[in-house]
Amino acid sequence: MPGRGTPAPVRAARHPGGAARGTRRVTVLGSTGSVGDSTLDLIGRNRDAYRVVALTAFRNVEKLIAQALDLRPELAVIGDPDLHDRLAEGLRGSGVRSEAGASALIAAAAEPADLVVAGIVGAAGLAPTMEAVRNGRAVALANKECLVCAGPLMTALAAERGAALLPVDSEHNAIFQVFDHERPENVERIVLTASGGPFRRCSLAEMRDVTVEQAVNHPVWSMGDKISIDSATMMNKGLELIEAHCLFPVAQDRIEVLIHPQSIVHSMVAYRDGSVLAQLGTPDMRTPIAFALAWPERMAAPVAPLDLARIGSLTFEPADEARFPALRLAREAMAAGGTAPTILNAANEVAVAAFLARRIGFLDIAAIVEETLQRAETDAAGSLEEVWAVDRRARTLATQAMLVREDSRAGAGAGQPVPSSKPSAVASMS
Ligand code: NAD
Ligand code: MG
Repeated sequence: MPGRGTPAPVRAARHPGGAARGTRRVTVLGSTGSVGDSTLDLIGRNRDAYRVVALTAFRNVEKLIAQALDLRPELAVIGDPDLHDRLAEGLRGSGVRSEAGASALIAAAAEPADLVVAGIVGAAGLAPTMEAVRNGRAVALANKECLVCAGPLMTALAAERGAALLPVDSEHNAIFQVFDHERPENVERIVLTASGGPFRRCSLAEMRDVTVEQAVNHPVWSMGDKISIDSATMMNKGLELIEAHCLFPVAQDRIEVLIHPQSIVHSMVAYRDGSVLAQLGTPDMRTPIAFALAWPERMAAPVAPLDLARIGSLTFEPADEARFPALRLAREAMAAGGTAPTILNAANEVAVAAFLARRIGFLDIAAIVEETLQRAETDAAGSLEEVWAVDRRARTLATQAMLVREDSRAGAGAGQPVPSSKPSAVASMS
């Protein structure tokens, strides 16, 4: 296993304060999303222990205003500059400062805080999250695309700046909780569990014509649209393989995926003496978020107690990379290393957005990612600027591949009817 010794997230960890030692200052990037909702729910129930420094959102200005009026952060930032006037108007007299635009999102991440929750979706979260790391903040990391895009850069910077990376993704949070950070040489394997998504039992032929509504309808988790589609293609588990490889010092071929439809066992660590340690719980993101908010303490979370007698049985089955090629593509990108994961992520973001806009079919998503990986040149990932250049180039190639598929679908008359509005977003977890 490479990288023996205490892993970066723990080695670099600086105690961020602790609710027990007074109020903890928290910034929430992407506060209007599903992870943001769960985070603010926990903070709202613990107003004496947490003080909100900054909240950020991209376009949902009304929700951001409501959150800011409720929790009274020092700063609220909207990504879309056209919405700044509305934000300022909505916050007038509240004492909450308002800002807008890409550089304001980055500046928000640098505000003095004990913890920054990285809850933006996609590579759009990379610059603000890196800024939090650069400033040595503890980061509650939900935004897995950051690590997929620029994992080695982010973990190296975290180690240099003493920024703790606390995984919020439920699988990585589970692993973090049962991993022997002091003696990683004793770890034999990591097993990432996966629900299998809504199409776990579907053939490829059945998946060809699935609708956006069917694909976002996750059987267990209620999440944002993008991660819901990633779960349906199983690209989510592919991204998580790469995320796990960035966060924990375990060789690639020792990170496994296991389908577990009930999503009760959130992941496992197998040790060389045959012991397998797992973290279990009711599937509710407020558990891993509470872990990160309170770390290294624990806080109460309003999560339904795990009732195994009622659940009765937990089942497991192997993952099928033939029906879910995204999983294979992610493993190949991880093995290729360098900028291949950046290309994989960028192409996937383009393809998922096109599927959500009903421009391509479900199976086109993995096909576009595969074609982009074949056409883009993989290089060693150097600086963040190089990562951005690779990301942009991959998006151009993926868009070209997408347009060809869109045209051929339209030609074959296979397109779904274009709806008058976006499909309703999946409700946040409560
Ligand atoms: P979401 O779509 O519900 O919310 C995304 C948030 O990011 C919103 O606040 C939105 O305003 C903001 N945002 C979107 N685009 C932006 C941009 N270009 N610039 C700035 N802000 C932008 O997403 P989510 O489901 O909360 O997921 C957030 C991240 O957490 C993703 O990386 C996802 O993979 C990860 N994650 C989510 C869950 C979950 O249960 N939702 C579980 C594990 C990991
Ligand atoms: Mg996950």
